[in-house]
Amino acid sequence: MSETYHNYVDGEWVESETGETFENRNPADRSDVVGEFQQSSEADAEAAVEAAAAATDEWANTPGPERGAVLREASKNLEARKDELTETLVREEGKARPEAAGEVQRAIDIFSYYGAKASDIGGEVKSSSSQDTTLYTKNEPIGVAGLITPWNYPIAIPAWKIAPALATGTTVAFKPASLAPNVARKLVECLDEAGLPDGALNFVTGPGSSVGATFSTHEEIDAVSFTGSSAVGETVGDQANETGKRVQLEMGGKNPVVVMDSADVDEAVDIAASGAFGVTGQACTATSRAIVHEDLYDEFVEGVVEAAEDVEIGPGLDGADMGPHVSESELDGTLEYVDIGVDEGATLETGGEEVDAGDGFFVSPAVFSDVEPDMRIAQEEIFGPVLSVIPVSSYDEALSVSNGVRYGLSASIVTQDLSEAHNFVEDSESGVVKINEKTTGLELHVPFGGMKDSSSETYREQGDAGLDFYTLSKTVYLN
Ligand code: NAD
Repeated sequence: MSETYHNYVDGEWVESETGETFENRNPADRSDVVGEFQQSSEADAEAAVEAAAAATDEWANTPGPERGAVLREASKNLEARKDELTETLVREEGKARPEAAGEVQRAIDIFSYYGAKASDIGGEVKSSSSQDTTLYTKNEPIGVAGLITPWNYPIAIPAWKIAPALATGTTVAFKPASLAPNVARKLVECLDEAGLPDGALNFVTGPGSSVGATFSTHEEIDAVSFTGSSAVGETVGDQANETGKRVQLEMGGKNPVVVMDSADVDEAVDIAASGAFGVTGQACTATSRAIVHEDLYDEFVEGVVEAAEDVEIGPGLDGADMGPHVSESELDGTLEYVDIGVDEGATLETGGEEVDAGDGFFVSPAVFSDVEPDMRIAQEEIFGPVLSVIPVSSYDEALSVSNGVRYGLSASIVTQDLSEAHNFVEDSESGVVKINEKTTGLELHVPFGGMKDSSSETYREQGDAGLDFYTLSKTVYLN
């Protein structure tokens, strides 16, 4: 018998008014049922929004240091359950155990970080041109935030939205992705146990078309923060704009690593392979294209093929390097792109095959060489462990290929030439630029966001920037 888990609305764990649930299974072992979750309706989502709206006065008027204490307590609760949360994450989403442990640690750190920040949310005193006037800004919470998150970082992404929202005094209606709601539910438990007042945080599972769409259209929602695919993000953005909300969209990527002729090939291979095959390629910042100078091309291809073939594939709970895809449709998506690449005339050097590593959605990491920049495998987000290696003969060509996609999330260059590195920082159409580092991996205290179709670009997440989205600023002239 599997457990049935509930929504969390106005401080209570409640069933959906539909009386229906959906089942979630372990992507590495389909016989393992993770649990049953509420298949919620618009009415359930509305109840969550109304609870959040009713709690705004109490939470906004709770002093910043007290709000911070709740967040820090939540961080301690997460820490105390770290092993359990790691296992839950692996079991429902499929990451390798160290990757999941790192993600849970990130959630712990985020709550501790914004727990400290909550005391500093006030504003700034500025000097006035009149001696009689005290001029200052005053930051206020925006009201109610609707948060919609993807399955691929099912605790870190909710944490990096919920923590800054609550730190500012904003209340929250939160919908996790249906493929990985259990670790998010446990995060909500940790906040509940930390002493959050009823209604300040509400959690509703269910379809994007009912729960998510209610959050992006409901009149009581002031701000919508969405992370997910560009296709859904565009709909959420249109709906939020039409209903006059502040909106933040973080979406897909097609992240390049540029390898210049001055690079150390072994270092470049490590950077590209870890960015491409880590978390089964299921990261918005995953390396999907290696744009490699022709002088190093053959050696680089040989190195990444070897790296791909060294990856041990299997269930994360058994200690494998690379876990499964999260679902059959994600696995099918990767296999389909492998076929597309072959049909387009690229050379499949290795991988791209289903792997029999248990009753799950396992695939071997794929490397394509001879990829042309306009091929679909070099243009579209695959969201699997597939690396396209594109030859170039100059920095200018590398830059043009690097920027020649609709996305602009994370871009890296491997070079020993400092001016080339500086030029790449200037020229790259990308929200995150890295030099001699993999495209994946983020620090929590600096802004994160993309350019072009990767992001709405207006507000960044994480660090101090993460607080701005949930804050309204007043300017006060006190004479
Ligand atoms: P998705 O777009 O399918 O779903 C994201 C969330 O939106 C889910 O909770 C889903 O239920 C909800 N949703 C679906 N339809 C909706 C609708 N009509 N209205 C409102 N909400 C709706 O994305 P996914 O498959 O869960 O995640 C993978 C995608 O997320 C990839 O494209 C990846 O690049 C992107 N991603 C981006 C970042 C980033 O920070 N840029 C981080 C992680 C993942």
